[in-house]
Amino acid sequence: MADRINGSVCLNHPNTPAVKRCAVCSKPLCADCVQMHDGVPYCSDLCWDNAKRTGLLVKNVEANKKSVAVKVFIRKVIYLIIIAALVYGGYYYYTHNKSKVDAQLKKAKSTTEQKLQEGKKSIEKGLPGDSKYKRDREKMVNEN
Ligand SMILES: [Zn+2]
Ligand SMILES: [Zn+2]
Repeated sequence: MADRINGSVCLNHPNTPAVKRCAVCSKPLCADCVQMHDGVPYCSDLCWDNAKRTGLLVKNVEANKKSVAVKVFIRKVIYLIIIAALVYGGYYYYTHNKSKVDAQLKKAKSTTEQKLQEGKKSIEKGLPGDSKYKRDREKMVNEN
């Protein structure tokens, strides 16, 4: 047997070679006596209970916490890579299509300026002379 413990025999069966040691009390155990819980060998329910209440379980909990922290870290790194890729992609697009982007920006700017000018003109002109609102206002002023 590959995982046979050299020279040890089971504490309960002196004629049977031991294959594992109890993770809590280190008793040598044969394949029939060993109890496996979460991949860890124990000699008895007593040792398993002790393990659950003390060190071994704490170690497992810490290992779980660590693996969760690693997962969160990896997720953050992936998000950062995606954001960096988007930013770089935008930058790459801009540098390789600079004239196009600039032309679009210029166009947008001139359109905005044109709209502003039109707005300004229409305010300067005031309301159109034939507007119902203006006629009504003039009528009211004349009546008073
Ligand atoms: Zn034990
Ligand atoms: Zn045994």
